[in-house]
Amino acid sequence: MRILVLSDLHANATAFAAALDSAEGRWDVSVCLGDVVGYGPDPHDVVAMLRKLGTQTIRGNHDKAVAGLMDTTDFNPVAKAAVDWTRSQLNAEDLAWLSALPHGPLATDGIVLVHGAFQDEDEYVFTPAQALDGLLDSSAEVTFFGHTHHQGGFSYQDSNLEVLQIRPRTSESFSALRIEEPRRYLLNPGSIGQPRDGDPRAGFAIADLEHQTVEFWRAPYDISAVQGRMRAASLPEPLVQRLIVGR
Ligand code: ZN
Repeated sequence: MRILVLSDLHANATAFAAALDSAEGRWDVSVCLGDVVGYGPDPHDVVAMLRKLGTQTIRGNHDKAVAGLMDTTDFNPVAKAAVDWTRSQLNAEDLAWLSALPHGPLATDGIVLVHGAFQDEDEYVFTPAQALDGLLDSSAEVTFFGHTHHQGGFSYQDSNLEVLQIRPRTSESFSALRIEEPRRYLLNPGSIGQPRDGDPRAGFAIADLEHQTVEFWRAPYDISAVQGRMRAASLPEPLVQRLIVGR
């Protein structure tokens, strides 16, 4: 079974559609690590697309904020403005769906899903030290996390923690990682809607544990079309600008 792993879609329907085009015919089930909405111009459309796909989805901090399940006083003003605008674009059914999303860790299809850190859905995992707790605590050989919007990850065996360099080059659509038992893996598929690892293409992963591979994909999309919709919605300019640089 091949699992399409999505994360941090951030209301970017054009990036999501491009990712689905690239992945077409290559997956059987889909999962999402949260932050379906927030920042981007298409919150209703992205919720509708995910629901249509039947994607097993856990919540991210932006989903919680938009659904009113989280205090946003900690959000920076730009993120807060996006949360308020996003809420105004969603209907009651969208909001009810967001509110009902389960939190991670969630075990499904032989993998574990978390939004941020294994122990705290709102914490970022950037460093090996931050990754180690999750690698030790997760029940699965392969755990997927999001939140940082950086495609990549970590593996661990016998006190040896490795930072994985697995992003495809600009000229490539994907790069494949071989899963080697009994190593454990904490992997980030990258962000669909707002990459921050220097590659502006939409990031996602396809996991095939029966064949012991995880592919890390990047799909180019029409960034200027998304920027046009963001400006038309008066979303904060820093959010518009960052899409083109992928930071
Ligand atoms: Zn996010």
